[in-house]
Amino acid sequence: MKEDMPVTGKAPVLVTRSSMPPFEEYSELIKELWESRWLTNMGDFHQRLEHELKAYLDTPGLTLFMNGHMALECVLRAFGLSGEVITTPFSFASTTHAIVQNGLTPVFADIRPDDYTLDPEKIEEKITEKTTAIVPVHVYGNICKVKEIEEIAGRHGLKVIYDAAHAFGEALNGESAASFGDASMFSFHATKVFHTIEGGAVAFKDRTLEHALNGLKNFGIMDEETVELVGGNGKMNEFQAAMGLCNLRHIAQEMEKRKKLYLRYRENLSGHPGIVLCPEPEGLRRNYSYMPVAFKDSFKNRDQVMAQLLEENIHPRKYFYPCINAYWCYRDRFSPEDTPIAGKVSREILTLPLYADLALETVDEICRIILRK
Ligand SMILES: *Cc1c(COP(=O)(O)O)cnc(C)c1O
Repeated sequence: MKEDMPVTGKAPVLVTRSSMPPFEEYSELIKELWESRWLTNMGDFHQRLEHELKAYLDTPGLTLFMNGHMALECVLRAFGLSGEVITTPFSFASTTHAIVQNGLTPVFADIRPDDYTLDPEKIEEKITEKTTAIVPVHVYGNICKVKEIEEIAGRHGLKVIYDAAHAFGEALNGESAASFGDASMFSFHATKVFHTIEGGAVAFKDRTLEHALNGLKNFGIMDEETVELVGGNGKMNEFQAAMGLCNLRHIAQEMEKRKKLYLRYRENLSGHPGIVLCPEPEGLRRNYSYMPVAFKDSFKNRDQVMAQLLEENIHPRKYFYPCINAYWCYRDRFSPEDTPIAGKVSREILTLPLYADLALETVDEICRIILRK
């Protein structure tokens, strides 16, 4: 036991815990690297992982990156966008930062009150002659109103680039989450349902995008003597790719384990007035990445629930709070009052612990603490 842990305390329950493949599987794979000495720059594991992920995500095009954020930054670059990009304030910092890092102006539209994804009607209200793209987020794995968004984008000639960081392996009515819009970014960060330690990818249908993405992640170098564009370094290395190859073998069990816990949470927490769970639309195949719960003051204030759990050494997250348009770095640029629903949800939401080897009993205990008067 670690010395800084209280003697009487139980081990902390964190919001997530990285899944690891069997040690031997990974060590067996990376042993090859001691022979090949090919550690990065699109080696054998990199190629194999791209190939396997194309099949798993059912997408004709896919390019790996060192992380999800770099993937998003590069795909926005690849489309050569300018002007304004409509996005959601209810997401992780990365979504808006990637837009701003590209010299584009983010324009925040409000979210839907039930599944927390961008509201198509609010998107439409924000379109100006400067708008060139929409960057929606399948937040918590809730798939956006993809049909409505596609229709709006088509009518106004806009690109749609999904932040699909939460939607790995999901499908709606049999259609892979990787197939919506012009491109989708996936994150393979250590805390995600499928991970490569750090990592990410862009999935796309139009194969011409492949050339630009491969260039942008490798200094724009196209061959030994041709540097075609001003790119950076976003390459996934072989140790990351090997971790991905191992984790992909176990992804079905990973989701199955999470599903049991997710359903147990729902069973325990549904039917209590003031406790709001995400809708379960028919035709959605989930990946069970997150367990978000909104607490109305009529039940109990969110911060009070948080404090009660922390007291028992259980560490949920206020994920996402604050909204991006309320960040300090964006002060004076945006008003969080423009997106009141996102603001309200960010004050009510708590993401509860969910990972493959969490015990069912711990889920029950967490729910007991939440339901305590
Ligand atoms: C994790 C995440 C990202 C960024 O991914 P990294 O791989 O950590 O760079 C972007 N958007 C959302 C919504 C995320 O959750």
